Amino acid sequence: MIMAEKMVEKVTRLMTKRERIRNIAIAAHIDHGKTTFSDNLLSGCGMMSEDLAGKACQLDFHGDEQERGITIDTAAVNMVHDFEGDEYLINLLDTPGHVDFGRDVTRAMRAVDGAIVLCCAVEGIMPQTETVLRQALRERVKPILFINKVDRLIKELQLTPEAMQERFVKTITSVNKLIREIAEEEYGEKWQTSVQDGSVCFGSAFHNWALSLNHMKKKGITFKEVIDAYSSNDEEQIKELRKKAPIHEVILDSVIQHLPDPAAAQKYRIPKIWRGDQESEDGKSLINCDEKGPLYFIITKIVVDPQAGEISAGRLFSGTMDKGTQVYLNKAKQHLRVQQVFIYNGAKREIVDHVPCGNIVGVAGLKGMPGDTITLEEVETPFEEITHIFEPVVTIAVEATKPSDLPKLIEVLRVVQKEDPCIKIEINEETGEHLMSGMGELHLEVIENRIKTEKGIEIKTSPPIVVYREAITKPSEEAMGKSPNKHNHLFFKVMPIPDNITKAIKDGDIPTGRVKKKDLVLRDKLIELGIDSKLAPKIKDIYEGNMFFEATRGQVHMGEIIEMVLDMFEDVMRSGPLAREPCTKVMVTMTDCKLHEDAIHRGPAQVYPAVRDGIREAMRIAKPLLFEPVQTLLFDSPDEYMGEISKLIGNKRGQLLDMKQEGSSVEIKAKMPVGEMFGLSNDLRSATGGRGSSSVVDQTFERLPDELQNKIVTQIRSRKGLTDNQ
Ligand code: GDP
Repeated sequence: MIMAEKMVEKVTRLMTKRERIRNIAIAAHIDHGKTTFSDNLLSGCGMMSEDLAGKACQLDFHGDEQERGITIDTAAVNMVHDFEGDEYLINLLDTPGHVDFGRDVTRAMRAVDGAIVLCCAVEGIMPQTETVLRQALRERVKPILFINKVDRLIKELQLTPEAMQERFVKTITSVNKLIREIAEEEYGEKWQTSVQDGSVCFGSAFHNWALSLNHMKKKGITFKEVIDAYSSNDEEQIKELRKKAPIHEVILDSVIQHLPDPAAAQKYRIPKIWRGDQESEDGKSLINCDEKGPLYFIITKIVVDPQAGEISAGRLFSGTMDKGTQVYLNKAKQHLRVQQVFIYNGAKREIVDHVPCGNIVGVAGLKGMPGDTITLEEVETPFEEITHIFEPVVTIAVEATKPSDLPKLIEVLRVVQKEDPCIKIEINEETGEHLMSGMGELHLEVIENRIKTEKGIEIKTSPPIVVYREAITKPSEEAMGKSPNKHNHLFFKVMPIPDNITKAIKDGDIPTGRVKKKDLVLRDKLIELGIDSKLAPKIKDIYEGNMFFEATRGQVHMGEIIEMVLDMFEDVMRSGPLAREPCTKVMVTMTDCKLHEDAIHRGPAQVYPAVRDGIREAMRIAKPLLFEPVQTLLFDSPDEYMGEISKLIGNKRGQLLDMKQEGSSVEIKAKMPVGEMFGLSNDLRSATGGRGSSSVVDQTFERLPDELQNKIVTQIRSRKGLTDNQ
């Protein structure tokens, strides 16, 4: 107990010293050892008993994670580490390794400045490592590399030292190649990892040791000792390694040396994540990480705590978070009071009165959503939207088994959506049918299980259904929407968004959200991507992969109605003309409008229907079609099942992309429509005697085959109870 108290004091003292803070996350493919590794860091820093490390899974809070062995939740933990006589505060955000839960990763990356890319020495860089690294670099988060499971190279694969070195070089080269390809030019070179400077470490999380060149020199350890220890299979020698080169010491030394402190990082991260005037008072405070400046906090995670209620965790970029302050939630458009402020001590929350910027903070009292910017008063420019790589594509209907549980269920579903915003919930209080959408069957199963066991509600669920997209296939002519009072006429044209722009949106190269004032950077970027130079400055909204341009001329009342127009544009993009499925890649231009002179005749009740009908009509002319979600999967299995897996893929309208054989195992990459994937894990299990596994690597939308178009549209419309003229 005494030790724990001392630790709290240390943490609170260090949180005020910006240069002694590192905010980091771990980027890894599932099963490469992230949980084992994080536990050992924690226990090494005295935050968790050594015996429990690797078994207790501090970071795996939810019961189902332990059962499934998947780390789902991003929980923050703080550690104190000594380096060259100084103490440092390391804020570690855990990031999930399963791509089904990809959204959480992006949010965690907003809060940190550095990432440890952890990869297995045997498997090397896997597609999920790449995905997470991509998300890190997109947020200008600097990487270092840890190659884990080195023991397996010696014990299982019995590689010679030369062959081992070859593997390391291969992994390091591929990481560096990715960094060069993905990162912006300036950082691609600067952020290369290398053994020489100690930004690459090797080790075994399982046996709790690691090496870096610096540490080997300092402690006089050679790689030969490692090889000897494992070749002779001598437990004592392995223990000795752990003593001489404890994993937490080696890795955290490297973190402190190579990853930036918050003030250093904010200098180059702020221009990427906040597009306001960098010379303004707010801009300067954000860039300088000034604790006396205006408050800027971004929520990156909501955790619901049985005692404290809803806790918004996130990164404080400017100012100081004080208990009792009244703050403004820019997205929720609400003033609320900060009831409690927390920092993390190990994985425990500690209540404090105030925390200065540069830290990861937990706040009670804010009923916001992840991604919201918290300031003292409303600000013109909140933080950039946190964009995600994948969207939810599978939906189930959820119903309470006991009708008396209905109110409780609605409450729980709202909470679930906040805790995990890659879950989308549609609540229908009239019919009692609630729809829950997620990234895949497994993801939904996990949440379903959580509702039943943790929240204690008996529920019934429908079989999963696929969420399609509606996209247009050619440009339309001008279409008109008329208001119910027939006094207002609005004109629209639509065309498909070119692929390079869609890619720029997906990669986060252009910001999403409504464009409030002239954004010259965005205008230039659009022109560079091929948008007409007269049209580009008229961009008003980029929403879920769709764009809206306002290209009318001489409209004096436009300022009054534009927000309503954008509301309805977004509404139509959420439910398109074919089957009320979400739209994608639609570029809408409002070309003209004729409005009633009198404001009373052009209110929401008039404008909304005119916009909705006008855009839907333009889309109808532009030959809309359904696009289906297609996921790229990576199968791993012993090579004798290669034929069975190929058959499975063929039976599910899948397409084989790549096949690699390594030793006696085979890796198959294939693309498959999500609509055909239900039950895939069971089928795979029976086809491979339980020895094959699969993981999602990428997700896109592709045109549904012509012969299925009508059938599926009719199916969805009848499921949604839409009549012919709706
Ligand atoms: P996560 O999915 O990335 O969190 O991975 P875990 O930490 O749960 O580890 C996955 C599996 O790999 C577990 O069975 C671990 O015991 C094992 N593991 C982790 N690190 C090592 C290591 O350094 N060497 C060996 N041989 N196994 C490891």
